[in-house]
Amino acid sequence: MPPGPLTILQMPEAIPAATGEDLILSLLRPHLLSLKPYSSARSEFDGRAEVYLDANENPFEGGYNRYPDPLQRDLKTALSGIHGVDVESIFVGNGSDEAIDLLMRLIGRPGRDCILQMPPTYGMYKVSAAINNLALVDVPLGADFQPDVRQVLAKASELGEQAKLLFVCTPNNPTGNDFKRDHVLSLIEGFDGLVVVDQAYSDFSSAPSYVDLLSDHPNLVVLQTLSKAYGLASARLGVAFASTAIVRWLNAIKPPYNVSGPSQAAGLEVLRDEARTRLQIKDILTERTRLEAELNSFEGIEQVYPSDSNFVLCRVPRADTWYAALVGQGIVVRNQTSKFEGVGHLRFTVGTAEENVRLLEALRALS
Ligand code: PMP
Repeated sequence: MPPGPLTILQMPEAIPAATGEDLILSLLRPHLLSLKPYSSARSEFDGRAEVYLDANENPFEGGYNRYPDPLQRDLKTALSGIHGVDVESIFVGNGSDEAIDLLMRLIGRPGRDCILQMPPTYGMYKVSAAINNLALVDVPLGADFQPDVRQVLAKASELGEQAKLLFVCTPNNPTGNDFKRDHVLSLIEGFDGLVVVDQAYSDFSSAPSYVDLLSDHPNLVVLQTLSKAYGLASARLGVAFASTAIVRWLNAIKPPYNVSGPSQAAGLEVLRDEARTRLQIKDILTERTRLEAELNSFEGIEQVYPSDSNFVLCRVPRADTWYAALVGQGIVVRNQTSKFEGVGHLRFTVGTAEENVRLLEALRALS
């Protein structure tokens, strides 16, 4: 009998879509799979009691004698309302610096794995990688301080599974500019590890946030901070938005009470008064425009880079001399020359109108 037409008896097994859980389990440092996280007094009892004799605290009420909420739920509820992200997808750290370190500790195998970054960029990626004994792979920014997407992805594929984390800082510190959204998207889609989009300065930029991409991209972590636009640098409040699976793992490895009670309260207060923050941002942006225009008129400044953040980077051939002279007048700016292979660069944070006038007067005398 001639063979009949081929029939497919069984559908090929469907490949399950990578959920946040699958992805983080494939990236995790294997020894963490057997971790039993610390169970703090405040995480074991969640309700309201009349008598607290569970945490070895001092019983005399003084405002600070009780441990804070280890999961910062009120703060996360406020953040959830502002950013439209589920509470379970929000991690709060002792500054975003803590989130940077925890992400490395979570998936970076010391002595084996690598972190990719695009210099010149924020210095803590390098320091945290060194602390965690992770190799740092640099793929410098290209023209106009934009990511060289092809080079980054080529490097990542060369490194294979060792390429665990890619840091994408937009607006970038110290260059101040936003990266083009399609570049960032290509990086998120093309990189197999976690892509950390650090948006510490996004409140000063007109570019939309990346949190909207979280639901479609389980390898995305978006960092934000209350240290900049929200004026809470001293409170140390950083936020990581990520899949619920990543957030659960970050919570599992963080110190039990990583965000203090006074800091949580300060965060809540500032988030409840968004209008004040918006006004301050408006003032800072007006001052940024003025500062950029004036800096452009100085002879001793070769280039004023366009800024999408609350600072302005300038190429200043005599950066070291200018830096010292400004310090002599009680004005401290950031000398970024070492990040530009010895070519003089100064970074000016936008201050109050009065502070900026003082800076400009001092620079005029130097120029
Ligand atoms: N990311 C970038 C790009 C920064 O510039 C900074 C602070 N300078 C941070 C993160 C850390 O911020 P935090 O105060 O939240 O630790």
